[in-house]
Amino acid sequence: MTVDLAALGWRPAFDEAFVPYRDEGFEPARVALEHTHIYRLFAPSGESLARVSGRLRHEAARRVDFPAVGDWVVVEPVPGSEARIHAVLPRFSRFSRRAAGDATEEQIVAANIDVVFLVSGLDGDFNLRRIERYLVVAWESGATPVVILNKADLVEDPEAAIEEVRSSAAGVDVHAVTTKQPETLDVLRGYLGEGRTGALLGSSGVGKSSIVNRLIGQELLRTRDVRAWDSRGRHATTGRQLVLLPGNGVLIDTPGMRELQLWETGEALAGTFSDIEALAADCRFRDCQHRTEPGCAVRAAVDAGEIPTGRLESFYKLGAEQAYQARQQDVRAQIEDKRRNRVLHRAVRDLYKNKGKT
Ligand code: GDP
Ligand code: ZN
Repeated sequence: MTVDLAALGWRPAFDEAFVPYRDEGFEPARVALEHTHIYRLFAPSGESLARVSGRLRHEAARRVDFPAVGDWVVVEPVPGSEARIHAVLPRFSRFSRRAAGDATEEQIVAANIDVVFLVSGLDGDFNLRRIERYLVVAWESGATPVVILNKADLVEDPEAAIEEVRSSAAGVDVHAVTTKQPETLDVLRGYLGEGRTGALLGSSGVGKSSIVNRLIGQELLRTRDVRAWDSRGRHATTGRQLVLLPGNGVLIDTPGMRELQLWETGEALAGTFSDIEALAADCRFRDCQHRTEPGCAVRAAVDAGEIPTGRLESFYKLGAEQAYQARQQDVRAQIEDKRRNRVLHRAVRDLYKNKGKT
C-alpha cells in the first residue's frame, strides 16, 4: 500500500503540531485499529504495528490521552519490532463514550472524523426523536452530521420523511438512499473527497454494514482476511476499523461507534433544539425549566401546537441525562482535587521536616 499523507486524511493543521518531532526522525501515522496494547497504523511507508512508548504511557493521565482509531500519532520505527508511538496529535473531532466500568471517565471511540452519517431505516425503525439524539452526539463531536434515511425502497414517499427530518434538524443535509440501488449511495461519496474521513452512526439493523460494504467494494473487503503475528508470535486477526475507500476518502467503522452513549454536551443541545432555546429567551424566569413555571414561553408554544409535545419531552430527557453526567463529572473532579491537595500537603510538610533537619 502506498498512499500519501493527504489521502490518509492529513491536513496542514497537523503540520505545526508535528514540527518538533520531525527533526528527531519520527513519522506521522494514522491509527487503523486498536487492540488492547497494540495499534495497527497506516503511513505512507506502509502498515505497521506499534505500542505506546513508556514515556507516553507514563505521562498519559487519562484514557483520552491514549491513541484511538482515527488518531494521528508520532511514530518511531523500531527495526525488527513494533514501532513506538511517542505522541498523539491534537484531534479536530472526537467521538467519546463512558469508559466501561467507570461511568465518569471519557474514552475516545474514534477521532478526526469530518462527517458522520446518522443512519436510520425508513422501515419500522424511523424515529425522529432518536435522530435528534444522534444529532446532539454528532454536533458535540466536532464532525458535521448528515442524516441518511436508508431503505427508501420500502416506502412510497421518502420525500415526506426527508421533509419531516429537515423541519426538526435545521441546516443539516438529509438524504434518502437504498442499498438495493447502490447508485443512490453516491451521495455519501460526495462528502468524502480526498482525505476526508467519514463514519456511520445508527441503531443496529438500519443497514450500516450494507452501506459500508457497498462503499468499500468487494475488492477491499477480501483484504480483511490478511493476518499478522503479534509480538508473542500468536495469530492475531487484523480487522481494519479505518479503511481507504476506492477512489477517495477514508471510512471509520469501529464497533465502538455503534454503541455510543451520550457524553457531555451543552452547546450541542442548544444547536439541536434551537427553536426551544429561542423561545426560552421569552420565558419569565431566566432559569426556566419549561415545566410548571409561570410565564413559560416554551410551554405556551407547545400548548399552541407550535412545538410537538414529543419534542419538548426529548429536550427534557437529554437535558436530564446531561445534568446527571455533569454531576458525575463534578464529583470526580472533587475527588481529584482532594487527592491533589493531599499530595501537595504532604509535599509541603516533608519540605518543612527536611528544613528542620538541616
Ligand atoms: P446494521 O446492523 O446497521 O449494520 O444493518 P445491516 O447492514 O446488517 O442490515 C440489516 C438488514 O437490513 C439486512 O437484512 C439488510 O439486508 C437489510 N437492508 C440494508 N439496507 C437495505 C435497504 O436499503 N433496503 C432494504 N429493504 N433492506 C436493507
Ligand atoms: Zn420556560
